[in-house]
Amino acid sequence: MVAHVTTPFQSIAEIRANLDDGTYSCRELAESLISRIEEHDNDINAFITVTADDARSTADAQDVLIAKGQAGPLTGIPLAHKDIFCTEGVKTSAGSKMLDNFIAPYSATVVAKLKAAGCVTLGKTNLDEFAMGSSNENSYYGPVRNPWQTSHVPGGSSGGSAAAVAAGFCPVSTGTDTGGSIRQPASMCGVTGIKPTYGRVSRWGMIAFASSLDQAGVFARNAEDAAILLSAMTGADPRDSTCIDAPIADLTQELSTPLTGIRIGVPEQYLSELDAPMADLLTSALFEMEAGGAKLVDISLPHTRYAVPAYYVIAPAECSTNLSRYDGVRFGYRCEDPEDIEDLYKRSRSEAFGDEVKQRILVGTFTLSTGYYDAYYRKAQQIRRLIHQDFVAAFNSVDVIAAPTCPGPAFRLLEKISDSIAMYLQDIYTIPVNLAGLPGLSMPIGQIGEMPVGMQLIGQYLDEARLLGMAHQFQQRTDWHLATPTLQATGVSHG
Ligand code: GLN
Repeated sequence: MVAHVTTPFQSIAEIRANLDDGTYSCRELAESLISRIEEHDNDINAFITVTADDARSTADAQDVLIAKGQAGPLTGIPLAHKDIFCTEGVKTSAGSKMLDNFIAPYSATVVAKLKAAGCVTLGKTNLDEFAMGSSNENSYYGPVRNPWQTSHVPGGSSGGSAAAVAAGFCPVSTGTDTGGSIRQPASMCGVTGIKPTYGRVSRWGMIAFASSLDQAGVFARNAEDAAILLSAMTGADPRDSTCIDAPIADLTQELSTPLTGIRIGVPEQYLSELDAPMADLLTSALFEMEAGGAKLVDISLPHTRYAVPAYYVIAPAECSTNLSRYDGVRFGYRCEDPEDIEDLYKRSRSEAFGDEVKQRILVGTFTLSTGYYDAYYRKAQQIRRLIHQDFVAAFNSVDVIAAPTCPGPAFRLLEKISDSIAMYLQDIYTIPVNLAGLPGLSMPIGQIGEMPVGMQLIGQYLDEARLLGMAHQFQQRTDWHLATPTLQATGVSHG
């Protein structure tokens, strides 16, 4: 076995210092993490594909750059990509049987940018099929388990990316968030996660779920690392017309800005409906912010309760059109011996999509059909507008909004799988942010029953640097983000 050259829980800053002063090489670091993944990922199932050989050769190339004194902030930093970002020459499955045989012919902009910045990709992480889910139980590759307690889910849909950071497999990872899929697993795995403003990061090569909501973001051990990684992902991309036409952003610029005078809006509806342990942790976190100089202001987001129903009309509608491209003809799964073209379409889709995906395609097709469009889709869009207006009104009197990320800590595997509504309600505090297209961050604020939970900071458009700065200031005052799980061998295997 390879000797571990580092503790597996170092931040980017610590790794950077060790790489630059020669304590260990990029290659040694990569080997150490690959061996940790080999040792423990049978129990966690965070990875669908480990790209060990590619990681080794990329690491060697970064060692050469460091030796020449040409290292940038991300040179040699190991990471993992959610398996929804196309990666040239590597299987890109979106967690689905449909794409189990799909080798991406090109890399997503996010993958290409981070590669160019010198990151060493260790592999592709597990997720709910086509990013539909809140527990990572909808993957064709089996569920991901929470590193804090393997009887529990890691959250979803970017559960593999969150679990990989929490388990010490990599310091940072990428994810996508359509209704909460970065923030919710970040909360449940005790890591920091940020979904930037809709359009902040290019989605070219990111497999689409619901295009008016999808956005890429990151997981990290702390806000500073998240800021460094996310900065490198930003910037205009002529290949994605929804990508904001702005230069690469420096999202680290507010890390040292004190909390003094920042007005934090606290939505009255949110705190009153939480269970006591969650409300207590949130209140303590808010007091900590106040002690740092922030001002708490009561606000109201009255339409929040309609967000989940509106989302579950809009997202399935968009998914039903996006997923129509998987027809068994051009790429992905094709059924055996089709009788005719109709049989080819029907059986390829029936055999390769999982139950949750099928349910959403059916719902989406229904709500978009003649006669139902006005009753469902148009109504949902009207609610979306109201939710957007709630935020606009709130931001008249505050700079940032604080909220829970999820109603509570991670739950047990299978606990909610047969109750769609209970599962969908996990995203009640994250979905409004996607409907409005705003940036949202989740950071650890404590534990309930030895499982981590997070608080969400919601910002104004393009105000990611402020969210990251506030989280960093909070993390200077608290040490919840430093807590790490002890991995235990459970002998569980995954299908
Ligand atoms: N849990 C939500 C859903 O299943 C959100 C998923 C996501 O953000 N990708 O749709």
